[in-house]
Amino acid sequence: MPIYCVGHKIPDSDSICGAIALAYLKNQIGEDAVAARLGELSPETAFILEKFGFEAPELKLSYAGEQVYIVDHSEVTQAPDDIAEATIVGIVDHHKLGDLTTSTPLECWIRPVGCSNTVIKMMYDFHGVEIPKNIAGIMLCAILSDTVIFKSPTCTTADIRCVEALAEIAGIEDFKGLGMEMFKVKSAVEGTPARDLVLRDFKDFDMNGNLVGIGQLEVIDLSVLDAIKPALVEDIAKLKAEGKRHSVLLLLTDIMKEGSELLVVSDDTAVVERAYGQNLAQGKVWLDGVLSRKKQVVPPLQEAFA
Ligand code: MG
Ligand code: MG
Ligand code: MG
Repeated sequence: MPIYCVGHKIPDSDSICGAIALAYLKNQIGEDAVAARLGELSPETAFILEKFGFEAPELKLSYAGEQVYIVDHSEVTQAPDDIAEATIVGIVDHHKLGDLTTSTPLECWIRPVGCSNTVIKMMYDFHGVEIPKNIAGIMLCAILSDTVIFKSPTCTTADIRCVEALAEIAGIEDFKGLGMEMFKVKSAVEGTPARDLVLRDFKDFDMNGNLVGIGQLEVIDLSVLDAIKPALVEDIAKLKAEGKRHSVLLLLTDIMKEGSELLVVSDDTAVVERAYGQNLAQGKVWLDGVLSRKKQVVPPLQEAFA
Protein backbone atom coordinates (compact mmCIF):
# COMPACT_ATOMS: atom_id res chain seq x y z
CA MET A 1 0.00 0.00 0.00
CA PRO A 2 1.69 3.24 -1.09
CA ILE A 3 2.03 6.34 1.01
CA TYR A 4 0.33 9.26 -0.72
CA CYS A 5 2.31 12.51 -0.36
CA VAL A 6 -0.22 15.30 -0.70
CA GLY A 7 -0.27 19.06 -0.15
CA HIS A 8 -3.19 21.34 0.65
CA LYS A 9 -6.40 22.09 -1.24
CA ILE A 10 -5.98 24.63 -4.05
CA PRO A 11 -2.39 23.47 -4.30
CA ASP A 12 0.42 25.97 -4.72
CA SER A 13 3.91 25.28 -6.03
CA ASP A 14 5.16 24.29 -2.56
CA SER A 15 2.39 21.69 -2.20
CA ILE A 16 2.95 20.17 -5.66
CA CYS A 17 6.76 20.33 -5.84
CA GLY A 18 6.95 19.22 -2.20
CA ALA A 19 4.77 16.16 -2.85
CA ILE A 20 6.97 15.17 -5.81
CA ALA A 21 10.25 15.75 -3.92
CA LEU A 22 9.02 13.93 -0.81
CA ALA A 23 7.67 10.92 -2.76
CA TYR A 24 11.04 10.57 -4.54
CA LEU A 25 12.91 10.71 -1.21
CA LYS A 26 10.60 8.13 0.38
CA ASN A 27 11.19 5.73 -2.52
CA GLN A 28 14.96 6.18 -2.16
CA ILE A 29 14.77 5.06 1.48
CA GLY A 30 12.71 2.01 0.63
CA GLU A 31 9.19 3.29 1.21
CA ASP A 32 6.63 3.03 -1.56
CA ALA A 33 5.31 6.57 -2.05
CA VAL A 34 3.27 8.38 -4.68
CA ALA A 35 2.81 12.13 -5.15
CA ALA A 36 -0.79 13.32 -5.31
CA ARG A 37 -2.69 16.61 -5.46
CA LEU A 38 -6.05 17.95 -4.31
CA GLY A 39 -6.72 20.31 -7.20
CA GLU A 40 -5.69 21.92 -10.46
CA LEU A 41 -2.21 23.32 -11.05
CA SER A 42 -1.77 27.10 -10.98
CA PRO A 43 -0.13 28.66 -14.06
CA GLU A 44 3.02 29.18 -11.96
CA THR A 45 3.20 25.51 -10.95
CA ALA A 46 2.48 24.37 -14.52
CA PHE A 47 5.40 26.57 -15.65
CA ILE A 48 7.74 25.00 -13.08
CA LEU A 49 6.80 21.38 -13.87
CA GLU A 50 7.09 22.01 -17.60
CA LYS A 51 10.49 23.67 -17.18
CA PHE A 52 11.96 20.71 -15.30
CA GLY A 53 10.12 17.96 -17.19
CA PHE A 54 7.59 16.70 -14.65
CA GLU A 55 4.02 15.54 -15.11
CA ALA A 56 1.39 16.79 -12.66
CA PRO A 57 0.99 14.43 -9.68
CA GLU A 58 -2.09 12.21 -9.64
CA LEU A 59 -5.32 14.11 -8.88
CA LYS A 60 -6.74 12.24 -5.90
CA LEU A 61 -9.44 13.62 -3.62
CA SER A 62 -10.34 10.65 -1.41
CA TYR A 63 -7.93 9.03 1.04
CA ALA A 64 -10.14 6.84 3.26
CA GLY A 65 -8.18 3.73 4.25
CA GLU A 66 -4.94 5.10 2.74
CA GLN A 67 -1.62 6.11 4.26
CA VAL A 68 -0.97 9.82 3.82
CA TYR A 69 2.05 12.06 4.29
CA ILE A 70 0.72 15.60 4.64
CA VAL A 71 2.70 18.39 2.91
CA ASP A 72 2.59 22.17 3.50
CA HIS A 73 -0.29 22.36 6.02
CA SER A 74 -1.70 20.81 9.17
CA GLU A 75 -5.23 22.24 9.10
CA VAL A 76 -8.38 20.15 8.71
CA THR A 77 -9.95 22.83 6.45
CA GLN A 78 -7.04 22.51 4.00
CA ALA A 79 -6.69 18.70 4.09
CA PRO A 80 -8.56 16.04 2.07
CA ASP A 81 -12.25 15.91 3.08
CA ASP A 82 -12.01 12.33 4.36
CA ILE A 83 -8.62 12.71 6.07
CA ALA A 84 -10.18 11.48 9.35
CA GLU A 85 -10.56 8.05 7.71
CA ALA A 86 -6.93 7.94 6.54
CA THR A 87 -3.74 7.17 8.46
CA ILE A 88 -1.48 10.20 8.62
CA VAL A 89 2.06 8.78 8.68
CA GLY A 90 3.82 12.16 8.61
CA ILE A 91 3.59 15.92 8.23
CA VAL A 92 6.15 18.22 6.62
CA ASP A 93 5.19 21.85 7.02
CA HIS A 94 6.20 25.42 7.81
CA HIS A 95 2.90 26.94 9.03
CA LYS A 96 1.43 27.36 12.47
CA LEU A 97 0.41 24.03 13.93
CA GLY A 98 -3.14 23.29 12.83
CA ASP A 99 -5.82 20.97 14.11
CA LEU A 100 -5.08 17.67 12.31
CA THR A 101 -4.78 14.86 14.82
CA THR A 102 -3.80 11.21 14.54
CA SER A 103 -4.59 7.99 16.35
CA THR A 104 -1.14 6.51 15.63
CA PRO A 105 2.41 7.86 16.01
CA LEU A 106 3.63 9.96 13.11
CA GLU A 107 6.75 11.59 11.74
CA CYS A 108 6.69 15.40 12.05
CA TRP A 109 9.02 17.71 10.17
CA ILE A 110 7.76 21.17 11.01
CA ARG A 111 10.11 24.15 11.01
CA PRO A 112 9.51 27.92 11.09
CA VAL A 113 11.12 28.51 7.70
CA GLY A 114 9.86 30.07 4.47
CA CYS A 115 8.87 26.92 2.59
CA SER A 116 8.08 23.23 3.07
CA ASN A 117 10.67 22.41 0.40
CA THR A 118 13.38 23.85 2.65
CA VAL A 119 12.31 21.31 5.27
CA ILE A 120 12.25 18.56 2.63
CA LYS A 121 15.85 19.47 1.73
CA MET A 122 16.70 18.94 5.43
CA MET A 123 15.04 15.51 5.16
CA TYR A 124 17.22 14.62 2.13
CA ASP A 125 20.30 15.69 4.08
CA PHE A 126 19.17 13.72 7.15
CA HIS A 127 18.74 10.55 5.09
CA GLY A 128 21.88 11.16 3.03
CA VAL A 129 19.95 10.97 -0.24
CA GLU A 130 21.25 12.80 -3.30
CA ILE A 131 18.79 15.20 -4.92
CA PRO A 132 18.44 14.72 -8.70
CA LYS A 133 18.95 17.84 -10.83
CA ASN A 134 15.33 18.21 -11.92
CA ILE A 135 13.98 17.73 -8.40
CA ALA A 136 16.45 20.33 -7.12
CA GLY A 137 15.02 22.67 -9.79
CA ILE A 138 11.40 22.35 -8.69
CA MET A 139 12.33 22.57 -5.00
CA LEU A 140 14.27 25.77 -5.67
CA CYS A 141 11.31 27.28 -7.55
CA ALA A 142 8.92 26.41 -4.72
CA ILE A 143 11.18 28.18 -2.21
CA LEU A 144 11.51 31.26 -4.43
CA SER A 145 7.71 31.30 -4.80
CA ASP A 146 6.88 30.92 -1.09
CA THR A 147 9.53 33.43 0.02
CA VAL A 148 8.71 35.90 -2.81
CA ILE A 149 12.35 35.67 -3.95
CA PHE A 150 13.56 36.15 -0.33
CA LYS A 151 11.50 39.33 0.21
CA SER A 152 8.89 37.79 2.47
CA PRO A 153 9.38 38.21 6.24
CA THR A 154 8.91 34.42 6.42
CA CYS A 155 12.23 33.93 4.60
CA THR A 156 15.06 32.64 6.79
CA THR A 157 18.78 32.09 6.32
CA ALA A 158 17.98 28.40 5.97
CA ASP A 159 15.82 29.13 2.91
CA ILE A 160 18.53 31.22 1.26
CA ARG A 161 21.26 28.62 1.91
CA CYS A 162 18.92 25.94 0.65
CA VAL A 163 18.22 27.77 -2.62
CA GLU A 164 21.97 28.33 -3.12
CA ALA A 165 22.66 24.62 -2.61
CA LEU A 166 19.79 23.56 -4.89
CA ALA A 167 20.89 26.03 -7.60
CA GLU A 168 24.33 24.42 -7.52
CA ILE A 169 22.83 20.94 -7.91
CA ALA A 170 20.41 22.02 -10.64
CA GLY A 171 23.09 24.06 -12.45
CA ILE A 172 21.03 27.26 -12.31
CA GLU A 173 23.18 30.37 -12.21
CA ASP A 174 20.64 33.18 -12.20
CA PHE A 175 18.04 31.85 -9.78
CA LYS A 176 16.68 35.32 -9.04
CA GLY A 177 16.05 35.78 -12.78
CA LEU A 178 14.20 32.48 -12.78
CA GLY A 179 12.18 33.72 -9.79
CA MET A 180 11.18 36.89 -11.67
CA GLU A 181 10.22 34.79 -14.69
CA MET A 182 7.93 32.79 -12.40
CA PHE A 183 6.30 35.87 -10.93
CA LYS A 184 5.75 37.22 -14.44
CA VAL A 185 3.80 34.05 -15.21
CA LYS A 186 1.87 34.64 -11.99
CA SER A 187 1.12 38.25 -12.95
CA ALA A 188 -0.46 37.34 -16.28
CA VAL A 189 -4.05 37.68 -15.09
CA GLU A 190 -5.66 39.23 -18.18
CA GLY A 191 -8.62 37.28 -19.47
CA THR A 192 -8.86 35.12 -16.36
CA PRO A 193 -12.32 35.05 -14.71
CA ALA A 194 -12.54 36.80 -11.31
CA ARG A 195 -13.50 33.55 -9.54
CA ASP A 196 -10.39 31.79 -10.85
CA LEU A 197 -8.21 34.62 -9.58
CA VAL A 198 -9.88 34.73 -6.17
CA LEU A 199 -9.44 30.97 -5.76
CA ARG A 200 -5.94 30.80 -7.21
CA ASP A 201 -4.36 30.86 -3.76
CA PHE A 202 -7.22 30.68 -1.28
CA LYS A 203 -7.34 29.17 2.19
CA ASP A 204 -10.10 28.75 4.73
CA PHE A 205 -9.38 29.17 8.42
CA ASP A 206 -11.40 28.42 11.49
CA MET A 207 -11.05 31.51 13.67
CA ASN A 208 -12.67 30.94 17.01
CA GLY A 209 -15.59 29.12 15.37
CA ASN A 210 -15.85 31.54 12.43
CA LEU A 211 -15.03 30.41 8.91
CA VAL A 212 -12.71 32.96 7.32
CA GLY A 213 -11.43 32.65 3.76
CA ILE A 214 -8.25 34.47 2.78
CA GLY A 215 -7.01 34.63 -0.81
CA GLN A 216 -3.83 36.15 -2.16
CA LEU A 217 -2.72 37.29 -5.60
CA GLU A 218 0.95 38.14 -5.93
CA VAL A 219 1.83 40.31 -8.91
CA ILE A 220 4.78 42.34 -10.11
CA ASP A 221 2.65 45.47 -10.52
CA LEU A 222 -0.77 46.00 -8.90
CA SER A 223 -1.98 48.10 -11.82
CA VAL A 224 -2.54 44.85 -13.78
CA LEU A 225 -5.48 44.28 -11.42
CA ASP A 226 -7.08 47.74 -11.75
CA ALA A 227 -9.58 46.79 -14.44
CA ILE A 228 -10.68 43.61 -12.72
CA LYS A 229 -10.82 44.93 -9.14
CA PRO A 230 -14.58 45.66 -9.08
CA ALA A 231 -15.23 42.10 -10.30
CA LEU A 232 -12.94 40.74 -7.59
CA VAL A 233 -14.83 42.65 -4.90
CA GLU A 234 -18.14 41.37 -6.24
CA ASP A 235 -16.83 37.84 -6.35
CA ILE A 236 -15.48 37.68 -2.80
CA ALA A 237 -18.93 38.83 -1.60
CA LYS A 238 -20.46 35.92 -3.52
CA LEU A 239 -17.90 33.49 -2.18
CA LYS A 240 -18.62 34.62 1.36
CA ALA A 241 -22.36 33.99 0.91
CA GLU A 242 -21.90 30.63 -0.86
CA GLY A 243 -19.61 29.23 1.81
CA LYS A 244 -21.47 30.73 4.78
CA ARG A 245 -18.23 32.42 5.71
CA HIS A 246 -17.94 35.13 8.34
CA SER A 247 -15.40 36.99 6.20
CA VAL A 248 -13.51 36.77 2.98
CA LEU A 249 -10.28 38.70 2.56
CA LEU A 250 -8.33 39.06 -0.65
CA LEU A 251 -4.74 40.26 -0.54
CA LEU A 252 -3.50 41.94 -3.70
CA THR A 253 0.22 41.82 -3.17
CA ASP A 254 2.64 44.02 -5.09
CA ILE A 255 5.96 42.20 -4.82
CA MET A 256 7.97 45.18 -6.09
CA LYS A 257 6.33 47.83 -3.87
CA GLU A 258 6.39 45.25 -1.07
CA GLY A 259 2.91 45.69 0.30
CA SER A 260 -0.64 44.50 -0.18
CA GLU A 261 -4.02 46.03 -0.82
CA LEU A 262 -6.54 44.19 1.31
CA LEU A 263 -10.11 43.73 0.02
CA VAL A 264 -12.61 42.79 2.71
CA VAL A 265 -16.18 41.54 2.93
CA SER A 266 -17.20 40.66 6.45
CA ASP A 267 -20.10 40.28 8.87
CA ASP A 268 -18.04 42.45 11.20
CA THR A 269 -15.55 44.74 9.47
CA ALA A 270 -14.60 46.17 12.88
CA VAL A 271 -12.82 42.91 13.71
CA VAL A 272 -10.68 43.31 10.57
CA GLU A 273 -9.96 46.97 11.33
CA ARG A 274 -8.94 46.01 14.86
CA ALA A 275 -6.66 43.26 13.56
CA TYR A 276 -4.63 45.56 11.33
CA GLY A 277 -5.07 48.83 13.25
CA GLN A 278 -6.40 50.60 10.17
CA ASN A 279 -9.78 51.75 8.93
CA LEU A 280 -11.22 50.35 5.76
CA ALA A 281 -12.36 52.71 3.04
CA GLN A 282 -15.04 51.08 0.86
CA GLY A 283 -13.84 47.68 2.03
CA LYS A 284 -10.22 48.32 1.07
CA VAL A 285 -6.98 49.25 2.80
CA TRP A 286 -3.30 49.35 1.77
CA LEU A 287 -1.05 47.43 4.16
CA ASP A 288 2.49 48.62 3.68
CA GLY A 289 5.16 45.95 4.03
CA VAL A 290 2.62 43.12 4.17
CA LEU A 291 3.65 40.23 1.91
CA SER A 292 2.88 37.15 3.98
CA ARG A 293 -0.58 35.79 4.72
CA LYS A 294 0.86 33.27 7.15
CA LYS A 295 2.97 35.66 9.17
CA GLN A 296 1.35 39.08 8.79
CA VAL A 297 -2.31 38.52 7.97
CA VAL A 298 -3.53 35.39 9.75
CA PRO A 299 -2.05 35.90 13.26
CA PRO A 300 -3.46 39.43 13.93
CA LEU A 301 -6.86 38.39 12.61
CA GLN A 302 -6.89 35.22 14.68
CA GLU A 303 -6.06 37.37 17.70
CA ALA A 304 -8.83 39.86 16.91
CA PHE A 305 -11.33 37.00 16.80
CA ALA A 306 -10.19 35.49 20.09
MG1 MG B 1 1.23 26.41 0.48
MG1 MG C 1 4.42 26.58 1.70
MG1 MG D 1 2.17 31.78 -0.73
